[in-house]
Amino acid sequence: MASKLQHLIDKNREWAERVELETPGFFKKLAAQQSPKYLWIGCSDSRVPANQVIGLAPGEVFVHRNVANVVVHSDLNALSVIQFAVDVLKVEHIMVVGHYGCGGVLAVLHEKRVGLADNWLRHVQDVKMRHRGRLMHLCNQEQEDTLCEVNVIEQVGNVAQSNVLQDAWARGQAVSVHGWCYGLKDGHVKDLGVTMSNSEEVVDVFRNAIKRYPRAPGETATSTDLHL
Ligand SMILES: [Zn+2]
Repeated sequence: MASKLQHLIDKNREWAERVELETPGFFKKLAAQQSPKYLWIGCSDSRVPANQVIGLAPGEVFVHRNVANVVVHSDLNALSVIQFAVDVLKVEHIMVVGHYGCGGVLAVLHEKRVGLADNWLRHVQDVKMRHRGRLMHLCNQEQEDTLCEVNVIEQVGNVAQSNVLQDAWARGQAVSVHGWCYGLKDGHVKDLGVTMSNSEEVVDVFRNAIKRYPRAPGETATSTDLHL
């Protein structure tokens, strides 16, 4: 009996033949080694495929994805990917890539229960609470877009503060962390201007990035507003 996924296996064979026809020896070369310059940390959302969005082929970008592109210091999965990418593959750039209209971020913003994933999204809830003074005066659409962006900025800070990046920078390794937000409607990536390339600039870069989202008139900074 044919598998219900046979059409995908068929497509796979067509794709492999096409790639090999366009670039003879592609798979043989790739099987021998991978040497990506980039680590992509993105959302699991099916509409944001890492390689296609930045026009790179297999072998050119190392990828980690989870719901709402969160980097938590106790998440051994994400930390192991970052450590392998930095220490073994020697990637030069790490992009944390959020996207507008992210289901995880919107669930947090609109206080919708998802289930088990609520516990994971609690990290985004923390971001929302920390920056609520920069969110609550905005209209709905602006709140959604801003929380998607601010969440990316927070996660860039988390990557930069991981012991993997701190150790890499201490030994002089050239690796930068960037924050991007991807638009589902036009396929364009927006650079959020939060690139960090050494330990010394982490706090300033973070603060300057967050300052681009003004608080409501009369709102004052809270002690947790700029926590880095
Ligand atoms: Zn998402």
